[in-house]
Formats: sequence, C-alpha cells, structure tokens
Amino acid sequence: MAKKKIVKKGKKPHKNKPTSKKYLMYKEDGGSLKKGRFCPRCGPGVFLMKAKERVYCGKCHYAEFDSKK
Ligand SMILES: [Zn+2]
Repeated sequence: MAKKKIVKKGKKPHKNKPTSKKYLMYKEDGGSLKKGRFCPRCGPGVFLMKAKERVYCGKCHYAEFDSKK
C-alpha cells in the first residue's frame, strides 16, 4: 500500500484511523466466521465485512445479503 505512485480515486477523504478494526475482528472472531467470506470481485484475500444480515466489501463496495436467519 505504501507505494510512491499515488492513484487518486476521488473517494472519501482518509482519516487517520487507528488500526483497522476489521482485521482485528477477523482475528478475534475467526472461530465464528463460518467460512471466511472473500469478496467475489476482489478475490481471495479480501474479506467481506459482516453487517447485520449482509456482507460487504469495503474495497469494491460489493454487498451480499444473507437471507437465511
Ligand atoms: Zn471487493
């Protein structure tokens, strides 16, 4: 990520967030993650964030709804 080449995508301004909680969540919550969902668009390596009843890719904004309860 820390490359010199900067690609401007004109997205939301980045704030200095503390270490992304996403990753912590996955580590701590790894056991309860059923299969560890990866983003079908970004491919393996990019996790989908779990929301209430859906999963969401923070990278490409892919969202998938989980209809079963
Ligand atoms: Zn994605």
